[in-house]
Amino acid sequence: MQLIPCPWCGPRDEVEFTYGGAAHVPYPEDPQALSDEEWARYVFFRDNPKGPFAERWCHSASCRRWFNAIRNTATHEFLAVYGQGEPKAVVA
Ligand SMILES: [Zn+2]
Repeated sequence: MQLIPCPWCGPRDEVEFTYGGAAHVPYPEDPQALSDEEWARYVFFRDNPKGPFAERWCHSASCRRWFNAIRNTATHEFLAVYGQGEPKAVVA
């Protein structure tokens, strides 16, 4: 069992959460101008780093609120959690 720190509820069991993919992916400024290839790149292509990675999570089994987290993809350790709309957390 892994505990994930919800910003509002505190540490909870990982089974209560839903993964939402990469965080801070900007919506295209002019979506009408994108080609099919550019849309495919926006929708499907994401970085896949080994180490700290900004992700979206939802505490779906409790407060049902979305938040962002910096998680180490190699160790699964949550390094920071913060609300959506807040600047990307800086981790050492
Ligand atoms: Zn919560």
